[in-house]
Amino acid sequence: MFEAAVKDEAALRAALAEADIAPTVMVLAQLSGDMAILDEVAPHIQGAWSFMESVPEPLKQKVRDRLVEVLKEYAATGRKPAAELPTATLQRIMTAGAGQHVPDEYIPVLLEETRLNGGDPRAVHWHHRPAAATLDAFKVVIIGAGFSGLCSAIRLQDLGIPYQIIEKNPDVGGTWLENAYPGCAVDTPNHFYSYSFNPNEAWTRHFSRRDELLAYIRSSVDKYGLRQHIRFGTEVTAAAYDEAGGAWSIKLRGADGKAETIQASALISAVGQLNRPSIPNIPGKDRFKGKLFHTAQWDNSVDLAGKRVAMIGTGASAMQTGPSIAPDVAHLTVFQRTPHWAVSNPNYHKEVSPGTLWVIKHIPYYAQWMRFLLFWAGSDGFHNTLQVDPNWPHQDRSLNEKNQAMRDMIVDYVRKELDGDEELLAKVIPPYPPYGKRMLRDNYWYRMLKRPNVSLVTGDIAEITEDAIVMQDGTRHEVDVIIMATGFQASKMLAPMELRGRTGRTIRDIWGDDDPRAYLGITVPEFPNLFLIYGPNTNLAHGGSIIFHTECQVRYIMQALRFMLEHDERALEVKREAHDEYNRLVDQTHRGMVWAHPGVMSWYKNKHNRVTVTSPWRLLDYWRLTRDFDASKYLTHGAEQAVAAE
Ligand code: NAP
Repeated sequence: MFEAAVKDEAALRAALAEADIAPTVMVLAQLSGDMAILDEVAPHIQGAWSFMESVPEPLKQKVRDRLVEVLKEYAATGRKPAAELPTATLQRIMTAGAGQHVPDEYIPVLLEETRLNGGDPRAVHWHHRPAAATLDAFKVVIIGAGFSGLCSAIRLQDLGIPYQIIEKNPDVGGTWLENAYPGCAVDTPNHFYSYSFNPNEAWTRHFSRRDELLAYIRSSVDKYGLRQHIRFGTEVTAAAYDEAGGAWSIKLRGADGKAETIQASALISAVGQLNRPSIPNIPGKDRFKGKLFHTAQWDNSVDLAGKRVAMIGTGASAMQTGPSIAPDVAHLTVFQRTPHWAVSNPNYHKEVSPGTLWVIKHIPYYAQWMRFLLFWAGSDGFHNTLQVDPNWPHQDRSLNEKNQAMRDMIVDYVRKELDGDEELLAKVIPPYPPYGKRMLRDNYWYRMLKRPNVSLVTGDIAEITEDAIVMQDGTRHEVDVIIMATGFQASKMLAPMELRGRTGRTIRDIWGDDDPRAYLGITVPEFPNLFLIYGPNTNLAHGGSIIFHTECQVRYIMQALRFMLEHDERALEVKREAHDEYNRLVDQTHRGMVWAHPGVMSWYKNKHNRVTVTSPWRLLDYWRLTRDFDASKYLTHGAEQAVAAE
């Protein structure tokens, strides 16, 4: 592996000159054991984002020269790097690279996420492999072929458990297939927003556009041979648990409208939270004579060039759509009911440089350290700043001193972006604390608002007429096209499927329209052998990658299925006490956090102000909670027993 890196020294040196210094020095310390050079660099690194360093150029060059020597020595001698570094060494390297103390407790999760010790540490293996006939008789149905459904499929395949994916769309990709609006991209760095077990060396951007993400998903499907297991164009309309048979009866509707019922021993829902568009029922909407569509249902037949376009909403989808279409339209009117917070990230629009692509591919461990840094930069670091300080005097606008500092920092940034336009600034700065709604990444939104062909309208919409949007104050805005950037029905989880559990009650009977709960966000009392991915309270709002959560959930589900199969259990149902206790803890923890702030309405919570969607935990906490399946939290029923009612 080192031969490839040093084969062409000129190429190596040229690439290193473009590479980030933090992962470079981390590789050097790991391979050479030279902590002195690490200590020399460390004081010049202020944070884990690549732009948070001020390492002097001569010192950078010293690191690069030394790394070239070390790589050459490895290649010449055939030496192998130490299999596993001692925890103290790892911690020292991580702390220096991140520019922040990395506590001991994070080391195991980081080793797993980066696969620094090789292998696939999140894979689940059999303790005692069941007989082939047992496995053959056990079938899992997965609903959805997005990131989570496909991850489940890969892991089931590893275990040799038969499965089928039911997908309503004609292709894989889920949200990344459906959302094709201009500017659609991920706002989590995708060297972290990707499967830990299938990293992509070739991302061309730090925050990839939708097409590249979709290509990655499709290539994962091909790599793991999943396509033959997917039924496309088929929707799960309902599913009912049959207690006597210990199986799920799943009703499907094909593209031709034909209904069919299939059976499964276990059902995994991987339908996502952001799957069903929310289109507000604004009076007069149906009277509008022009085109009106949702960002997630982009109408490519509409040419926006030269049109007067309205965009309702200012969330993450609007943030990407608005600046992407503004240069082409005659006029863009943005309708903002509530402003959102947005931060700038210098890497957001950057391509991965050719040199960085080269080092990711050729220099051992560079990609792993890069993944570690991205995990660290965008994850639990902010978590403790999102707690309310009861003694903080300005609770309406911030939670505590650090949250106020973040507020001040963003206000300064936005003021600059708006060239000091205080009137506009007053309209776009939220009254509520930063992070109250999803923190957005500025996609040149504020610059867009300064364009002569863009106007921002604030307040509530009263109605839509044949050719205009009319505000509550009577002002009228004539438009040709209306884009609904109005989000998704997140709290109405699993809708419109009708899932009926062991007792005959449906999930809606239990959750109502908007009050979903599950144990660890994964299992629900009365619904044996049903597993949810991206279920209640599993959304990440302080940072991190949702794929990290998916992998935690999938590992847990695989362990649960392993337990069932190895112990010949036909039914596994979470105990009500475990479920209730967990949800009490979730609610209690949320009470002191930003998302429950009374001054904010967002898709994170329901109409009773209960946070239903978002996780209150650090990534580390959730990783711990889901790492080991604990059968004592479950009612189990052997293959020969009838399922006892509670
Ligand atoms: P969203 O965050 O729920 O935003 C919806 C917007 O529509 C809000 O500004 C909302 O205003 C407005 N709205 C809703 N109903 C309205 C009405 N009747 N009148 C006026 N305005 C109305 O939805 P989203 O932007 O689609 O984003 C949803 C989530 O998807 C994000 O938070 C994120 O998790 C994910 N996402 C991610 C990316 C990415 O990675 N780059 C991109 C897009 C989406 P209020 O704020 O006043 O309710």
